[in-house]
Amino acid sequence: MSRSEYSEVTEEVIRDLENILGPSNVSANLEKRQAYSRDEVPPQQWGDLPPAEVLCFPESTGQVSKLLSYADQHRIPVTPRGAGTGLSGGAVPSRGGILLSFEKMNRILELDTANLTITVEPGVITSEITKAAQSAGLLYAGDPCSGDISTIGGNVAENAGGNKVVKYGATGNHVLGLEVVLPDGSISRFGGKRRKDVTGYDLVHLIVGSEGTLAVVTKIILKLFPLPRKVIDLLIPFQDTASAIALVPRLIIDGKVMPSTVEFMDKSSLQLVKKYLNLRIPCEEAGAHLIVQLEGNDPDWLRSEILRVGDLCRECGALEVFVAESKIHRNIIWKLRKGIAEEPWAHDMPCCIEEDIVAPIGEIPSLMNFLRDLEANGGIRYIAYGHVGDGNMHMTLFTEKGTPDSDTVLENARLALYRKVNELGGTLTGEHGVGLKRRNYLPLFLDEAQIRLLRRIKKAFDPHNILNPGKITPPAEEEGLG
Ligand SMILES: Cc1cc2nc3c(=O)[nH]c(=O)nc-3n(C[C@H](O)[C@H](O)[C@H](O)COP(=O)(O)OP(=O)(O)OC[C@H]3O[C@@H](n4cnc5c(N)ncnc54)[C@H](O)[C@@H]3O)c2cc1C
Repeated sequence: MSRSEYSEVTEEVIRDLENILGPSNVSANLEKRQAYSRDEVPPQQWGDLPPAEVLCFPESTGQVSKLLSYADQHRIPVTPRGAGTGLSGGAVPSRGGILLSFEKMNRILELDTANLTITVEPGVITSEITKAAQSAGLLYAGDPCSGDISTIGGNVAENAGGNKVVKYGATGNHVLGLEVVLPDGSISRFGGKRRKDVTGYDLVHLIVGSEGTLAVVTKIILKLFPLPRKVIDLLIPFQDTASAIALVPRLIIDGKVMPSTVEFMDKSSLQLVKKYLNLRIPCEEAGAHLIVQLEGNDPDWLRSEILRVGDLCRECGALEVFVAESKIHRNIIWKLRKGIAEEPWAHDMPCCIEEDIVAPIGEIPSLMNFLRDLEANGGIRYIAYGHVGDGNMHMTLFTEKGTPDSDTVLENARLALYRKVNELGGTLTGEHGVGLKRRNYLPLFLDEAQIRLLRRIKKAFDPHNILNPGKITPPAEEEGLG
């Protein structure tokens, strides 16, 4: 559906929305609309998109239901939004319309220790859930680097990964049940507190990762784990990338260790974080650093694990193994890793693209060699870091200031990277999502039959294409070619 086939948000529509939500929950203020109509991707990546025409801040599922039913009847596009920390343009309105913010639906509704679940509204900040679970001696294992600023609704919609995926899985692995509002306004409950359920299709996990295009999530039941008594982080510098990555399978196969985290940082990413955040890097001459996190209840057992991991590290050519036990030391390590994700240098590099590819772990050294060649011959520079324990690597490609035809050079490099990732059996995005940013590249990774299926699923949920239109599938959908 093109922009002209949607209705505009007139004064009358705003009055109707105020009747549904209350006047204090609706805003048409231009500055506010502009601020809420972006996420963490530099907006120049998709040119001039008009901001949302109106902002809505519902306080209950009932209000969301009435709002969607109204929007569906009047053919007004609706873009759900959590905290806008997304890295794919998922919460950026592509057609104006209503921006549906969940910042007022931010309550933790229930901590159920008998069933090891926590039930929350979508606007709760992720780290608040972690803290609430901890207060009962439990662990919420969703742990994106943006946990202090992102919402759980956004995490569910993107199937956010993060730092504990190796052991506990991504957000979807923790979601047991959802309350959703479908685009026609009907309210439904998928799943529940039960741990097993094969009654019909798995609708819970169809909604997880659907980037706000199929339904709006209004309540989430999350699974909790026992909180380990002790957590230790190891910072391990290696001469080069290949030996760092060789450690990952050996930890599991030879060491019989299941770390909760294995994170990777290449030399260039640490050099940048050092320069911009003024941090000291232990063994900064190393080619790559890993962070390995171990956890357990018995300190003696944990110590024996550390010794075993230390031996394996040295066999793989580690230059050192720094053991961080105290909160202060652990925080220093994570400041380095999270500092890279915050990309403090980005404003100095107007031409950069952040990628979120996934490859089979054993193929990552080939991918890194490919990037090195691309840097040598393709006119770009790069940094590489990320969740190597699950094969999800973040790569920021950039050009030096003054590079002629920067945009074309970067675009060519990005395409070459995608083709290589595909050849190695990898995929386009592991946790940041397709959104607006990557939708044109979907056909490189999914065949026609798959893309047709995605469009048919979208149509089954949202026949009038009002919910977050223009996301995930390539533009043919809007031209009626789907
Ligand atoms: C510094 C930094 C570090 C990051 N680290 C990680 C990381 O380690 N792992 C990771 O996975 N991501 C990471 N991200 C990306 C981002 O934080 C995640 O994608 C996060 O899940 C987005 O949450 P949000 O609340 O900001 O959602 P938004 O950006 O507001 O929205 C994201 C998507 O969710 C949809 N949505 C939001 N709420 C709802 C709802 N209630 N119902 C339906 N759809 C909804 C939106 O329409 C949009 O498509 C990082 C981002 C930054 C800036």
